[in-house]
This record gives sequence, C-alpha cells and structure tokens, in this order.
Amino acid sequence: MPTENQIIGGLRLRVLELEALNKIFRRALEEMKAEEGQREIDAEALAVCVWTEDPDGIWTGPCGVAWEFDNDGPEENRCRYCPRCGGKIEAHPYEDEEGEQDGD
Ligand SMILES: [Zn+2]
Repeated sequence: MPTENQIIGGLRLRVLELEALNKIFRRALEEMKAEEGQREIDAEALAVCVWTEDPDGIWTGPCGVAWEFDNDGPEENRCRYCPRCGGKIEAHPYEDEEGEQDGD
C-alpha cells in the first residue's frame, strides 16, 4: 500500500500532467479556430460577385472590380469568375430605354 505522502505526490503529478494537457488542448483549439476562420474567408471568396454594366460598357462588382470587354459581357467572353475576388460572376447587362424599367 502507498503511503499518504506517496498518494498526494502522485496526485500532484497528475494535476501537473492535466495542466500540461490543458495547455496543449487550448493551443490545438486556437489553431482549429484560426483554420476555421481561414475556411470562412475562402468560402466568402467563392460567393457570387454581381457584375453590373454601366452605359459605357464598364462592368463593376461589389468587390470593387471594374472591367471592360472588347465585345459583349462576361458570359459571352466565357468569363465566369471575378478576377478580383474570385467570386462567381452574376452578370447584369446594362438595360437601355427599351429594356426593363422599374416604373414609378
Ligand atoms: Zn468580385
């Protein structure tokens, strides 16, 4: 049978081990959180980037992209992803007066 001091000594050792494990787990958790944050940023980059054409034929998106095609728009030029944010392009061509209008 171990003596009382041996038992207390053993328990102190266990506490130190658990504290060390606690630190390791905390660090692993911080790393996982950091990775998760990175994944969220990647997911954002894959979101849709809505491109709207202005009367001059310049296409702009919410990420600050401004792009001009020699002819037509992103769909006709097989441009599917925004070169600035990497989002999938959703093209909204400029509508002239003959096109769709929101009535007053
Ligand atoms: Zn974009």
